[in-house]
Amino acid sequence: MMSKKSDSDNSIAKLIQQKALDLGYEKCGIIPVEMMAGYEEKFHERTQKVPESQPFYQNQQRLIRFQEDFDWAKSIVVLVKRYSKYHIPESLRGHIAKHYLTDSRINENTKEFQSSTALEQYMKELGLRTETNRKFGIVGVRWAALQAGLGMIRRNNFFYTESGSYISLEAFLTDCEMELIEKPNLPPCPPNCNRCMKACSTASLSDAYTMNPLRCISFLTTFGGRDLPNEPLASDFGDWIYGCDMCQDACPMNHNKWTGQNEFPGLSELEPYLTMENILEMDEDFYRQNIQPKFFYLSPDELWKWQVNVLNFMDNRYEDHFAPAIIKAQKSNYEQVRKMAGLISTKHGLHT
Ligand code: SF4
Ligand code: SF4
Repeated sequence: MMSKKSDSDNSIAKLIQQKALDLGYEKCGIIPVEMMAGYEEKFHERTQKVPESQPFYQNQQRLIRFQEDFDWAKSIVVLVKRYSKYHIPESLRGHIAKHYLTDSRINENTKEFQSSTALEQYMKELGLRTETNRKFGIVGVRWAALQAGLGMIRRNNFFYTESGSYISLEAFLTDCEMELIEKPNLPPCPPNCNRCMKACSTASLSDAYTMNPLRCISFLTTFGGRDLPNEPLASDFGDWIYGCDMCQDACPMNHNKWTGQNEFPGLSELEPYLTMENILEMDEDFYRQNIQPKFFYLSPDELWKWQVNVLNFMDNRYEDHFAPAIIKAQKSNYEQVRKMAGLISTKHGLHT
């Protein structure tokens, strides 16, 4: 049973929402923690539909049990920020997922990160206790955003607002009983639309709301990437080397939603280093200092995964001008890179 919120608690809620909007967030809603009750069932539904995905979701159990860790939490402030305002350099488009290129979660140079810390500070000044996990979330945030009425989850499993799905969600726990729920006004997916499912080349998104993360290119090119030479889906990755946007890009609800008018801090400076050839040539120290902190799904010791992903792209889209880079990669310091380059060289008849 939810306890009654006082007028002052709800005026605090309004203050937080206004501050969030002033800081540039697209939306802000607040739900009592009790509204997360349905999340566990939803979570298990997901793994029941695709039983082999169980290990993937194992480390997300903490999102279900957040109240065990934070028994003081009474409400959740849920926020939406839009990354579709950022310009994506031509050479990176279709190779690295847009969300990862404009990831502000731990990038202190971004307006979004600064807004997040400013909002946290503001809530503290209001006398609230708060907690968040900027990197990996503190609650099931899509579910929380749905309860807060900030938008809807479409058949491709992404959360949409009026700005489409090129948004990211953020949540703070607070110790204050508050509630600020909006009413979304979005059209449902058109009845026969399955464009997102058709766009998914690995059949990870096999049906509406049904996705096998273990087949997803986003997973397999990042923290799930292990043994690409023996990965039967590798040839279906197409142009992607880190993440994948295909099921979002194909969606008519995202049509014309990418405005791209702003520069993302540091992205144009990074662009030349992220060409396929330059990733293959990348120095490990440079990677550790400049690339890994921004693309943190791969660890400081996993430059080789980027390079194997690049070689996979070169195999999928083979052109003669890739040959010198592939041949050179046969002499890489990384065993996995040598192996991949050797296999591709044999396949395309390249000789050292
Ligand atoms: S991100 Fe790519 S691989 Fe993953 S479900 Fe969407 S289209 Fe499929
Ligand atoms: S592509 Fe169609 S079915 Fe898929 S999320 Fe978009 S509107 Fe819905």
